[in-house]
Amino acid sequence: MPFGDHTSDLTEYFAQHQQQMLDLVIELARVNSGSLNLSGIKQVRSILQDHFAVLGGQQTVMPVAPMKFISDGGVQEERELGSVLRIWKRPEAPLQVLLLGHMDTVFGVDHKFQEVRLLDEGRLLHGPGVTDMKGGLVVLLWALQALEQNKFADNIGWEVLLTADEEIGSPGSAEIIANCAKKHSLAFVFEPALDEAGNLAGARKGSANYTLVMHGKTAHAGRNFFEGRNAICKMADVISEINSLHGEREGVTFNVGYIHGGEVVNSVPEICVCKINVRVPKMLDADWAHNCLQTIVQEINEYDQYTLELHGGFQRKPKELDPETLRLYELVQEIAAKQNLQLSWQSCGGVSDGNNLSEVGVPNVDTLGVRGGKIHSSDEYLVVASLTERAELLAKILISISENGFK
Ligand SMILES: [Zn+2]
Repeated sequence: MPFGDHTSDLTEYFAQHQQQMLDLVIELARVNSGSLNLSGIKQVRSILQDHFAVLGGQQTVMPVAPMKFISDGGVQEERELGSVLRIWKRPEAPLQVLLLGHMDTVFGVDHKFQEVRLLDEGRLLHGPGVTDMKGGLVVLLWALQALEQNKFADNIGWEVLLTADEEIGSPGSAEIIANCAKKHSLAFVFEPALDEAGNLAGARKGSANYTLVMHGKTAHAGRNFFEGRNAICKMADVISEINSLHGEREGVTFNVGYIHGGEVVNSVPEICVCKINVRVPKMLDADWAHNCLQTIVQEINEYDQYTLELHGGFQRKPKELDPETLRLYELVQEIAAKQNLQLSWQSCGGVSDGNNLSEVGVPNVDTLGVRGGKIHSSDEYLVVASLTERAELLAKILISISENGFK
């Protein structure tokens, strides 16, 4: 038992393991695990299963429901998703902590960004998913190893959930996250810190994905053009109307992110599919945004020979900082200060599984992963020193909760 209550020993412990931590991030990042690359995800999962086995908990792999989506042809299709890895220990302990991460990245198997390499004399690690969030998973693994060697560890039980569809909005794993979360008093998520200084994301906007499918009527572009109903042109009207909603309600945005319509230029297009992402600061805004879209759809459906369908909705509700969540942020801040880390938090337009946890009422801090930058781009990098720094921080938080509780 190297750590009783001498938490200063932790600095030394992580310093001794820094190279092993870095090696594991590199090993994980070298395997492509884009959200739809199921074989890559399986490989990453198997590496993690081997490493997490040292903690002595129980493990299981949980399949998830397939993702439903609207194809370019305007019909619903399904796609298989990667399973969730669940690892847990001491489920009978009075205080239960959920530790949530994801194994998938935004970089598919065909993406040009696949290489992992050290930069700036080993200060930075450049590679797909090193920061979002393979580095965060390594932080979690080592912090749990430190916790398990602490004399207070028996006071808490923990459950690790590692999902494989976070980067596409957790369509398959959301149900498992919500069901597991109900057993827990608090949760941590290992998304990267908000900035290179290590600050945390506080409140988060809610996010909805909608698909609009316009049905018009096809006709020969030369022989009977006027008998056709052009689905692309009608969709263009709808898009301008959606775009004109900006500014009507503070903080609410509608991003038209994808459009597909038509097959050949000498035919009036019958189908046009458009996908939009909506972000809202508050739940009331979500209702407002949804009603606006429904009104637009109803108006179109009054036109002769056009039909507009609206699919989708809010996958992630806004994360608002209730008093209990705020207390958890303050606890993290206090423990960080003892480690000479000055951390604060700010509102964020981005979403994470922290939104899902807040929806079921579980206080959570969702950016306890590593420090780095340029995530979701080919310039993604990890600040190598943050591996040990954040593992030490998480270990101290878990030990503090084991010793003093959280209520
Ligand atoms: Zn992430």
